[in-house]
Amino acid sequence: MIVTYPFSAVVGLADLKLALVLNAVSPRVGGVLVRGEKGTAKSTIVRALAAQLPAVDVVPGCRFACDPGALDPECPDGPHEHGAGGVSRPAALVELPVGASEDRLAGSLDVERALTEGVKAFEPGLLASAHRGVLYVDEVNLLHDHLVDLLLDAAALGRCYVERESVSVRHAARFLLVGTMNPEEGELRPQLLDRFGLTVEVRASRDPEERAEVVRRRLAFDADAEAFAARWAEEESALADRIAAARDRVPGVRLPDARLRQIATVCAAFEVDGLRADLVTANAAVAHAAWQGRDMVITEDVRAAARLSLPHRRRRDPFDAPGLDEALLDELLERTSPDDGPGDDGPDGGPDAGPGSGPDRAPGSDSSGDPGGGGPAGPPPGGDEGSPPDTTGGPADGIQGSPGDGRPNDGSSDPRDDDAGPATPGIGGQVAGAGAPHRVPLLEVPGIGEGAAGRRSRARTRHGRSTGARRPSGQVRDLHLTATMLAAAPYQRGRGRTGPGLLLRTDDLREVVREGREGNLVLFVVDASGSMAARKRMSAVKTAVLSLLLDAYQRRDKVGLITFRGAGAEVALPPTSSVEAGAARLRSLPTGGRTPLAAGLMRAAEVLRVERLRDPARRPLLVLVTDGRVTAGGDVDRAAALLEGTACVVVDCESGPVRLGLAVRLASRLRARLVPLDALADLGCLVRDHRKAV
Ligand SMILES: [Zn+2]
Repeated sequence: MIVTYPFSAVVGLADLKLALVLNAVSPRVGGVLVRGEKGTAKSTIVRALAAQLPAVDVVPGCRFACDPGALDPECPDGPHEHGAGGVSRPAALVELPVGASEDRLAGSLDVERALTEGVKAFEPGLLASAHRGVLYVDEVNLLHDHLVDLLLDAAALGRCYVERESVSVRHAARFLLVGTMNPEEGELRPQLLDRFGLTVEVRASRDPEERAEVVRRRLAFDADAEAFAARWAEEESALADRIAAARDRVPGVRLPDARLRQIATVCAAFEVDGLRADLVTANAAVAHAAWQGRDMVITEDVRAAARLSLPHRRRRDPFDAPGLDEALLDELLERTSPDDGPGDDGPDGGPDAGPGSGPDRAPGSDSSGDPGGGGPAGPPPGGDEGSPPDTTGGPADGIQGSPGDGRPNDGSSDPRDDDAGPATPGIGGQVAGAGAPHRVPLLEVPGIGEGAAGRRSRARTRHGRSTGARRPSGQVRDLHLTATMLAAAPYQRGRGRTGPGLLLRTDDLREVVREGREGNLVLFVVDASGSMAARKRMSAVKTAVLSLLLDAYQRRDKVGLITFRGAGAEVALPPTSSVEAGAARLRSLPTGGRTPLAAGLMRAAEVLRVERLRDPARRPLLVLVTDGRVTAGGDVDRAAALLEGTACVVVDCESGPVRLGLAVRLASRLRARLVPLDALADLGCLVRDHRKAV
């Protein structure tokens, strides 16, 4: 029995357990995404609770976990005999490693044997193993794109489909998808996010009492491990029994029309896309009612369901923070539940009998109480639907400037203004605002890479368009039929062919060479010195870099941010897939002081060196944003030499009628493409404004 999770002090643990329990009670709820920082034992908790799933009956010997009660006619191990009986085994918990191959996930079909021997040889993948169990993806946000696509297809169809050159295999693959992620390391694609029925946020507790309780438990465990384990084992087996009972109750739970309308009202008010949110909320509310021992859904069930099913569906913009306005939720529920009095909560006594009732219950993390008359009776909603405050750096965001005047003010600028920089060393610097991101031209790394799929630079990929054929290095997976036939043709007579059939040998096989796009590491090196602060230029620079960041998100790049000003350079954002983090660092970036350009370049070279070790296939693109002025130490030539061979773009921030052309010289020294700051913005303000005007 796994008893590790009592030792984690995690805020959101009660929610996490409830989310997993609801999924165990009703598979229709559709999985859980656990979001949280490092060190919260997310994986341990998920594994421990997944072990509570009811056992499944399977056809003996079937590698695809066929249900003897409902045989899969397409099962590759079939056909099975009807009424042959089954064996009971625990529901599988299958872990999908982030770097798994496509074959590992979906299974592999031996094309060679199919073509040369006519045998359909299929090796099942993880999707087959996870059928009727849990598919667990730790760090799901780092999953490769082609695996995400496979996963989405399987989840949508409940089947796994593998086809190679018109030899195909399919089998049932219905699984509970559980993922964990650290949002700091990058967000999920919206389609994948939507695939998770529920989300839960967890974080390490900073509450002394809660931490003390965990230590107390740890001491109890150390004092008498056996007794401790026995106590937890008892709790777990009670939990498993209760899940099984709730599961039996689900088909009989009634969802009254009034509750369905309530769900629709809540989903509409939170501006979720499509109807999936309504469906998931309804299923989760039914599961919650069954879990609480009720035969009818009440407002409390809707509330518990909505809290878990809506936070990730109302996101509109990669820069928006997730989360749900609970005050608004309460208000909506109250407005739409005139018939649910406090007496309507059922005989159960409320949520305390829920999964959070164990000794590890996280104080303060249970907010499912009091859906009746005691809720906050706030003012009636006005025209403002309670939208969260706009944190995306709107016009009023900065100390200086607004998008209208944030652009470099051509024609009135005087290069002497740049002296403002060196004249103010030592001050803390000022923070310029940023305008709304706009579309930017495509900046790419020259040549052809082999990095992770993305949308920036040309690359050999698995899913791009076909550009030729080659001999496969291992097993052939993407057969180029014409090239294979051409390779075999000259040898037909020599091989003794007499009839119409082509005689193929393994070394005739050719596979398709494809070309698509890869994501890159886009490392921004931003001059934040005093010369840049002049004439509100920094606001325009921030807008431009913010736009490039949003662009990088859409192209699935990794991004990093180095700034240099005053005494040296600073890694403001180590390479990450989280654009939010980059945007936040950029917005609060102060400006002022001298311009140590060499320090910025040297720091960039160091970051790139480390990243090359970490992720060798990901090619870097250095975007240097500067006016090229140097007013502090370090040999720029020597620093530039360290970046030899790195693809560079210099965004020239110099403006005004008299220009020194320093950035132009710097660009030629770095063999960089030169892009004037204005040219980045010339494509216009097209990206946003799909948000509701505030
Ligand atoms: Zn089978």
